[in-house]
Amino acid sequence: MRPIYDKTPLEHLLAELIRIPSINPPGDETPCAELLEEFLSDCPQLEISTQHLGENRKNLIAVLRGTGEKKALLFNGHTDVVPIGERSGWTHDPFGAEVVDGVMYGRGTGDMKAGLLALAAAVKLLANRDEPLKGDIVFLATAGEEVDGCGAKAFVREWDMTQFSGTVIAEPTGSVVVSAERGALWVKIHSIGVTAHGSVPHTGVNAIQYLIETLEKIRKGFNPQSVHPTLGKTTMNLGVFHGGMEPNIVPDNAWAVLDFRTVPGYARAELLELVNGAIAEVTAEHPDAKLSIELINDRPQVATDENDPLIQAAVEVNGTLGRSTAIEGKVACTDGSILNTVCDTPMLIYGPGEASQAHVYDEYVRLEDFHNSVNFFYELAEKLLG
Ligand SMILES: [Zn+2]
Repeated sequence: MRPIYDKTPLEHLLAELIRIPSINPPGDETPCAELLEEFLSDCPQLEISTQHLGENRKNLIAVLRGTGEKKALLFNGHTDVVPIGERSGWTHDPFGAEVVDGVMYGRGTGDMKAGLLALAAAVKLLANRDEPLKGDIVFLATAGEEVDGCGAKAFVREWDMTQFSGTVIAEPTGSVVVSAERGALWVKIHSIGVTAHGSVPHTGVNAIQYLIETLEKIRKGFNPQSVHPTLGKTTMNLGVFHGGMEPNIVPDNAWAVLDFRTVPGYARAELLELVNGAIAEVTAEHPDAKLSIELINDRPQVATDENDPLIQAAVEVNGTLGRSTAIEGKVACTDGSILNTVCDTPMLIYGPGEASQAHVYDEYVRLEDFHNSVNFFYELAEKLLG
Protein backbone atom coordinates (compact mmCIF):
# COMPACT_ATOMS: atom_id res chain seq x y z
CA MET A 1 0.00 0.00 0.00
CA ARG A 2 1.25 3.44 -0.88
CA PRO A 3 1.73 5.54 2.26
CA ILE A 4 -0.21 8.77 2.70
CA TYR A 5 1.68 11.76 4.07
CA ASP A 6 1.89 15.51 3.83
CA LYS A 7 4.59 16.40 1.30
CA THR A 8 5.18 20.05 2.18
CA PRO A 9 6.64 19.67 5.71
CA LEU A 10 8.96 16.94 4.43
CA GLU A 11 10.22 19.26 1.68
CA HIS A 12 10.80 21.98 4.27
CA LEU A 13 12.79 19.56 6.38
CA LEU A 14 14.86 18.58 3.34
CA ALA A 15 15.61 22.27 2.75
CA GLU A 16 16.68 22.62 6.40
CA LEU A 17 19.06 19.68 6.00
CA ILE A 18 20.55 21.23 2.85
CA ARG A 19 21.07 24.55 4.66
CA ILE A 20 23.36 22.81 7.18
CA PRO A 21 26.84 22.86 5.61
CA SER A 22 28.05 19.44 6.75
CA ILE A 23 31.13 19.68 4.55
CA ASN A 24 33.66 16.90 4.89
CA PRO A 25 36.45 17.55 5.70
CA PRO A 26 36.01 18.28 8.55
CA GLY A 27 32.47 16.78 8.64
CA ASP A 28 30.47 18.65 11.27
CA GLU A 29 27.60 16.21 10.80
CA THR A 30 26.12 16.58 14.29
CA PRO A 31 23.54 19.30 13.41
CA CYS A 32 22.21 17.11 10.57
CA ALA A 33 22.04 14.07 12.84
CA GLU A 34 20.21 16.13 15.46
CA LEU A 35 17.67 17.47 12.98
CA LEU A 36 16.88 13.93 11.85
CA GLU A 37 16.71 12.81 15.45
CA GLU A 38 14.18 15.55 16.19
CA PHE A 39 12.14 14.42 13.16
CA LEU A 40 12.10 10.80 14.34
CA SER A 41 11.81 11.38 18.08
CA ASP A 42 8.05 12.03 18.11
CA CYS A 43 7.62 8.41 17.08
CA PRO A 44 7.71 6.35 20.33
CA GLN A 45 8.03 3.05 18.40
CA LEU A 46 11.59 3.96 17.39
CA GLU A 47 14.63 3.18 19.56
CA ILE A 48 17.01 6.03 18.89
CA SER A 49 20.71 6.07 19.71
CA THR A 50 23.89 7.79 18.55
CA GLN A 51 27.53 6.93 18.11
CA HIS A 52 29.93 9.70 19.01
CA LEU A 53 32.77 9.96 16.47
CA GLY A 54 34.64 13.05 17.61
CA GLU A 55 34.11 16.77 17.83
CA ASN A 56 30.78 17.67 16.16
CA ARG A 57 30.53 14.26 14.50
CA LYS A 58 28.13 11.41 15.13
CA ASN A 59 26.05 8.61 13.65
CA LEU A 60 22.31 8.50 14.27
CA ILE A 61 20.61 5.11 14.59
CA ALA A 62 16.86 4.42 14.86
CA VAL A 63 15.52 0.89 15.25
CA LEU A 64 11.96 -0.08 14.39
CA ARG A 65 11.33 -3.43 16.01
CA GLY A 66 9.51 -6.15 14.09
CA THR A 67 8.17 -9.45 15.36
CA GLY A 68 11.51 -11.19 14.75
CA GLU A 69 10.11 -13.75 12.29
CA LYS A 70 12.41 -12.41 9.58
CA LYS A 71 15.94 -11.00 9.50
CA ALA A 72 16.40 -7.25 9.78
CA LEU A 73 16.94 -4.71 7.02
CA LEU A 74 19.54 -1.95 7.26
CA PHE A 75 18.63 1.45 5.77
CA ASN A 76 21.71 3.61 5.29
CA GLY A 77 22.62 7.08 4.10
CA HIS A 78 25.28 9.66 4.98
CA THR A 79 24.97 13.16 6.44
CA ASP A 80 28.25 14.64 5.16
CA VAL A 81 28.70 16.41 1.82
CA VAL A 82 31.74 17.25 -0.30
CA PRO A 83 33.07 20.84 -0.52
CA ILE A 84 31.32 23.17 -2.97
CA GLY A 85 34.41 23.90 -5.10
CA GLU A 86 34.53 27.37 -6.68
CA ARG A 87 31.55 29.43 -5.51
CA SER A 88 31.52 31.13 -8.93
CA GLY A 89 30.71 27.78 -10.53
CA TRP A 90 27.27 27.81 -8.86
CA THR A 91 24.31 29.73 -10.23
CA HIS A 92 22.27 28.79 -7.11
CA ASP A 93 23.28 29.29 -3.48
CA PRO A 94 25.00 25.98 -2.60
CA PHE A 95 23.35 26.03 0.84
CA GLY A 96 20.16 27.87 -0.13
CA ALA A 97 17.94 24.89 -0.99
CA GLU A 98 16.26 27.01 -3.68
CA VAL A 99 13.38 25.32 -5.46
CA VAL A 100 12.77 26.14 -9.12
CA ASP A 101 10.09 24.25 -11.08
CA GLY A 102 10.00 21.34 -8.65
CA VAL A 103 13.78 21.00 -8.49
CA MET A 104 15.76 21.72 -5.32
CA TYR A 105 19.34 22.95 -5.73
CA GLY A 106 22.19 22.72 -3.27
CA ARG A 107 25.20 20.74 -2.10
CA GLY A 108 23.96 17.41 -0.78
CA THR A 109 20.55 17.47 -2.48
CA GLY A 110 21.31 14.41 -4.58
CA ASP A 111 24.34 13.10 -2.68
CA MET A 112 22.50 12.38 -0.53
CA LYS A 113 20.30 14.22 1.92
CA ALA A 114 17.15 13.62 -0.17
CA GLY A 115 17.78 9.87 -0.15
CA LEU A 116 18.66 9.91 3.53
CA LEU A 117 15.50 11.80 4.49
CA ALA A 118 13.41 9.54 2.23
CA LEU A 119 14.67 6.55 4.24
CA ALA A 120 13.90 8.27 7.54
CA ALA A 121 10.43 9.29 6.37
CA ALA A 122 9.69 5.75 5.19
CA VAL A 123 10.76 4.34 8.57
CA LYS A 124 8.48 6.77 10.36
CA LEU A 125 5.55 5.85 8.11
CA LEU A 126 6.29 2.14 8.62
CA ALA A 127 6.30 2.69 12.39
CA ASN A 128 2.75 4.02 12.14
CA ARG A 129 1.37 0.98 10.30
CA ASP A 130 -1.28 -0.99 12.18
CA GLU A 131 0.51 -4.32 11.76
CA PRO A 132 4.11 -4.68 12.94
CA LEU A 133 6.67 -5.80 10.36
CA LYS A 134 8.10 -9.32 10.60
CA GLY A 135 11.67 -8.04 10.96
CA ASP A 136 13.48 -5.01 12.39
CA ILE A 137 14.47 -2.02 10.34
CA VAL A 138 17.64 -0.28 11.42
CA PHE A 139 18.00 3.25 10.08
CA LEU A 140 21.61 4.40 10.08
CA ALA A 141 22.69 7.94 9.20
CA THR A 142 26.47 7.80 8.94
CA ALA A 143 29.03 10.56 9.23
CA GLY A 144 32.24 10.55 7.23
CA GLU A 145 31.25 8.68 4.07
CA GLU A 146 32.89 11.16 1.73
CA VAL A 147 36.38 10.80 3.23
CA ASP A 148 37.24 7.74 5.29
CA GLY A 149 33.95 6.03 6.11
CA CYS A 150 34.51 6.60 9.84
CA GLY A 151 30.77 6.37 10.58
CA ALA A 152 30.27 3.06 8.80
CA LYS A 153 33.45 1.68 10.40
CA ALA A 154 32.14 2.61 13.87
CA PHE A 155 28.82 0.94 13.11
CA VAL A 156 30.31 -2.40 12.02
CA ARG A 157 32.50 -2.42 15.13
CA GLU A 158 29.50 -2.28 17.47
CA TRP A 159 26.58 -3.84 15.60
CA ASP A 160 26.03 -7.44 14.61
CA MET A 161 26.02 -7.37 10.81
CA THR A 162 24.82 -10.98 10.54
CA GLN A 163 21.33 -9.92 11.66
CA PHE A 164 20.63 -8.22 8.32
CA SER A 165 19.12 -9.86 5.25
CA GLY A 166 20.02 -6.78 3.23
CA THR A 167 21.45 -3.27 3.20
CA VAL A 168 19.61 -0.51 1.39
CA ILE A 169 21.78 2.51 0.57
CA ALA A 170 20.00 5.64 -0.66
CA GLU A 171 22.83 7.09 -2.75
CA PRO A 172 21.64 8.81 -5.94
CA THR A 173 20.92 6.33 -8.73
CA GLY A 174 18.33 8.28 -10.72
CA SER A 175 15.69 6.00 -9.12
CA VAL A 176 17.22 2.94 -10.79
CA VAL A 177 17.91 -0.33 -8.95
CA VAL A 178 21.65 -0.80 -8.46
CA SER A 179 22.96 -4.15 -7.24
CA ALA A 180 26.73 -3.73 -7.35
CA GLU A 181 29.49 -1.21 -6.90
CA ARG A 182 33.12 -1.26 -7.93
CA GLY A 183 35.86 -1.50 -5.35
CA ALA A 184 38.65 1.05 -5.03
CA LEU A 185 42.34 0.44 -4.54
CA TRP A 186 44.61 3.48 -4.30
CA VAL A 187 48.27 2.50 -4.48
CA LYS A 188 50.88 5.11 -3.61
CA ILE A 189 54.32 4.27 -4.98
CA HIS A 190 57.35 5.93 -3.36
CA SER A 191 60.70 6.21 -5.05
CA ILE A 192 63.79 7.26 -3.08
CA GLY A 193 66.98 8.36 -4.83
CA VAL A 194 70.17 10.26 -4.07
CA THR A 195 70.64 13.95 -4.87
CA ALA A 196 73.52 15.22 -7.02
CA HIS A 197 74.28 18.28 -9.13
CA GLY A 198 72.29 18.26 -12.35
CA SER A 199 75.49 18.61 -14.40
CA VAL A 200 76.79 15.24 -13.13
CA PRO A 201 73.59 13.18 -12.98
CA HIS A 202 75.47 9.84 -13.01
CA THR A 203 76.73 10.58 -9.47
CA GLY A 204 73.17 10.54 -8.08
CA VAL A 205 70.13 8.25 -8.20
CA ASN A 206 67.15 9.70 -10.04
CA ALA A 207 63.98 8.88 -8.11
CA ILE A 208 61.69 10.24 -10.86
CA GLN A 209 63.30 8.12 -13.57
CA TYR A 210 62.79 4.87 -11.65
CA LEU A 211 59.25 5.80 -10.73
CA ILE A 212 58.44 6.45 -14.39
CA GLU A 213 59.92 3.10 -15.39
CA THR A 214 57.78 1.37 -12.77
CA LEU A 215 54.61 3.16 -13.89
CA GLU A 216 55.33 2.26 -17.51
CA LYS A 217 55.64 -1.44 -16.63
CA ILE A 218 52.35 -1.24 -14.72
CA ARG A 219 50.66 0.48 -17.67
CA LYS A 220 51.89 -2.16 -20.10
CA GLY A 221 50.98 -5.03 -17.76
CA PHE A 222 47.52 -3.70 -16.88
CA ASN A 223 45.18 -6.08 -18.63
CA PRO A 224 41.58 -6.13 -17.36
CA GLN A 225 39.79 -9.03 -19.03
CA SER A 226 36.95 -9.73 -16.58
CA VAL A 227 33.77 -7.95 -17.57
CA HIS A 228 31.06 -7.67 -14.93
CA PRO A 229 27.55 -7.40 -16.46
CA THR A 230 26.78 -4.06 -14.79
CA LEU A 231 30.14 -2.79 -13.53
CA GLY A 232 32.15 -3.28 -16.69
CA LYS A 233 35.92 -3.67 -16.40
CA THR A 234 38.50 -2.67 -13.80
CA THR A 235 39.94 0.77 -14.57
CA MET A 236 43.22 2.48 -13.71
CA ASN A 237 43.93 6.19 -13.37
CA LEU A 238 47.32 7.70 -12.66
CA GLY A 239 45.89 10.50 -10.57
CA VAL A 240 48.88 12.04 -8.76
CA PHE A 241 52.58 12.42 -9.61
CA HIS A 242 55.04 14.40 -7.52
CA GLY A 243 58.78 14.64 -7.75
CA GLY A 244 61.86 16.79 -7.96
CA MET A 245 62.93 20.19 -6.68
CA GLU A 246 64.87 22.13 -9.31
CA PRO A 247 66.05 21.41 -12.86
CA ASN A 248 69.68 21.34 -11.72
CA ILE A 249 69.23 18.80 -8.89
CA VAL A 250 68.93 15.03 -9.35
CA PRO A 251 65.65 14.27 -7.56
CA ASP A 252 65.91 12.07 -4.48
CA ASN A 253 62.17 11.75 -3.96
CA ALA A 254 59.15 11.02 -6.15
CA TRP A 255 55.76 9.48 -5.59
CA ALA A 256 52.64 8.71 -7.55
CA VAL A 257 49.16 7.40 -6.77
CA LEU A 258 47.27 4.96 -8.96
CA ASP A 259 43.50 4.77 -8.52
CA PHE A 260 42.17 1.36 -9.52
CA ARG A 261 38.38 0.80 -9.58
CA THR A 262 37.86 -2.90 -9.41
CA VAL A 263 35.38 -5.54 -10.52
CA PRO A 264 35.44 -9.23 -9.55
CA GLY A 265 38.09 -11.26 -11.39
CA TYR A 266 40.68 -8.47 -11.74
CA ALA A 267 40.86 -6.84 -8.36
CA ARG A 268 43.02 -6.41 -5.27
CA ALA A 269 45.19 -9.56 -5.49
CA GLU A 270 45.86 -9.32 -9.24
CA LEU A 271 46.59 -5.59 -9.06
CA LEU A 272 48.98 -5.88 -6.13
CA GLU A 273 50.78 -8.64 -8.02
CA LEU A 274 51.04 -6.32 -11.04
CA VAL A 275 52.44 -3.40 -9.00
CA ASN A 276 54.81 -5.52 -6.91
CA GLY A 277 55.98 -7.35 -10.05
CA ALA A 278 56.80 -4.05 -11.77
CA ILE A 279 58.74 -2.88 -8.71
CA ALA A 280 60.66 -6.17 -8.57
CA GLU A 281 61.59 -5.88 -12.26
CA VAL A 282 62.80 -2.29 -11.96
CA THR A 283 64.77 -3.14 -8.82
CA ALA A 284 66.36 -6.15 -10.60
CA GLU A 285 67.38 -3.94 -13.54
CA HIS A 286 68.59 -1.09 -11.30
CA PRO A 287 69.93 -2.28 -7.94
CA ASP A 288 70.14 1.34 -6.72
CA ALA A 289 66.36 1.85 -7.12
CA LYS A 290 64.41 2.09 -3.85
CA LEU A 291 60.71 1.64 -4.43
CA SER A 292 57.92 0.86 -2.00
CA ILE A 293 54.13 0.91 -1.92
CA GLU A 294 51.47 2.12 0.49
CA LEU A 295 47.74 1.40 0.18
CA ILE A 296 45.88 4.62 0.92
CA ASN A 297 42.39 3.40 0.04
CA ASP A 298 41.33 -0.22 0.00
CA ARG A 299 37.62 -0.92 -0.58
CA PRO A 300 36.28 -4.22 -1.87
CA GLN A 301 33.77 -4.38 -4.69
CA VAL A 302 30.25 -5.42 -3.69
CA ALA A 303 28.17 -7.39 -6.15
CA THR A 304 24.83 -8.84 -5.12
CA ASP A 305 23.29 -11.56 -7.26
CA GLU A 306 20.50 -10.13 -9.39
CA ASN A 307 18.27 -13.02 -8.31
CA ASP A 308 18.63 -12.17 -4.63
CA PRO A 309 15.19 -11.48 -3.05
CA LEU A 310 16.28 -7.94 -2.12
CA ILE A 311 17.10 -7.03 -5.74
CA GLN A 312 14.07 -8.83 -7.15
CA ALA A 313 11.75 -7.08 -4.68
CA ALA A 314 13.34 -3.74 -5.57
CA VAL A 315 12.76 -4.31 -9.30
CA GLU A 316 9.11 -5.23 -8.68
CA VAL A 317 8.46 -2.21 -6.48
CA ASN A 318 10.14 0.13 -8.94
CA GLY A 319 7.97 -1.29 -11.70
CA THR A 320 4.76 -0.68 -9.72
CA LEU A 321 5.92 2.92 -9.21
CA GLY A 322 6.18 3.31 -12.98
CA ARG A 323 9.97 3.43 -12.90
CA SER A 324 12.65 1.42 -14.68
CA THR A 325 12.90 -2.32 -14.05
CA ALA A 326 16.53 -2.39 -15.16
CA ILE A 327 19.36 -3.38 -12.83
CA GLU A 328 22.54 -1.34 -13.03
CA GLY A 329 25.96 -1.06 -11.39
CA LYS A 330 27.64 1.89 -9.70
CA VAL A 331 31.18 2.91 -10.55
CA ALA A 332 31.82 4.90 -7.34
CA CYS A 333 32.16 3.53 -3.81
CA THR A 334 29.60 3.88 -1.03
CA ASP A 335 29.50 2.97 2.65
CA GLY A 336 28.33 -0.42 1.34
CA SER A 337 31.96 -1.48 0.85
CA ILE A 338 32.52 -0.98 4.59
CA LEU A 339 29.16 -2.31 5.81
CA ASN A 340 29.84 -5.37 3.69
CA THR A 341 33.28 -6.22 5.07
CA VAL A 342 32.01 -8.30 8.01
CA CYS A 343 29.77 -10.64 6.02
CA ASP A 344 28.50 -10.63 2.48
CA THR A 345 25.14 -8.97 3.13
CA PRO A 346 23.11 -8.40 -0.04
CA MET A 347 23.21 -4.73 -1.01
CA LEU A 348 20.81 -2.50 -2.90
CA ILE A 349 21.60 1.07 -3.89
CA TYR A 350 18.62 3.20 -4.81
CA GLY A 351 17.90 6.88 -4.43
CA PRO A 352 16.63 10.11 -5.92
CA GLY A 353 19.04 12.40 -7.74
CA GLU A 354 21.18 11.48 -10.71
CA ALA A 355 24.50 9.77 -9.95
CA SER A 356 26.11 12.24 -12.39
CA GLN A 357 24.96 15.08 -10.12
CA ALA A 358 27.13 14.02 -7.19
CA HIS A 359 29.98 16.43 -6.38
CA VAL A 360 29.16 18.89 -9.21
CA TYR A 361 28.13 22.58 -9.33
CA ASP A 362 24.39 23.25 -9.13
CA GLU A 363 23.74 19.80 -7.69
CA TYR A 364 19.99 19.16 -7.63
CA VAL A 365 17.23 16.73 -6.85
CA ARG A 366 13.74 16.59 -8.35
CA LEU A 367 11.21 16.72 -5.53
CA GLU A 368 9.03 14.24 -7.42
CA ASP A 369 11.93 11.75 -7.30
CA PHE A 370 12.42 12.45 -3.60
CA HIS A 371 8.79 11.52 -2.86
CA ASN A 372 9.05 8.53 -5.20
CA SER A 373 11.90 7.28 -2.99
CA VAL A 374 9.80 7.61 0.17
CA ASN A 375 7.21 5.36 -1.47
CA PHE A 376 9.86 3.01 -2.80
CA PHE A 377 11.52 2.40 0.59
CA TYR A 378 8.14 2.02 2.30
CA GLU A 379 6.85 -0.49 -0.22
CA LEU A 380 10.13 -2.37 -0.36
CA ALA A 381 10.05 -2.88 3.41
CA GLU A 382 6.42 -4.03 3.24
CA LYS A 383 7.25 -6.47 0.47
CA LEU A 384 10.23 -7.96 2.29
CA LEU A 385 9.03 -7.79 5.89
CA GLY A 386 5.25 -7.42 5.65
ZN1 LIG B 1 27.24 9.85 -1.34
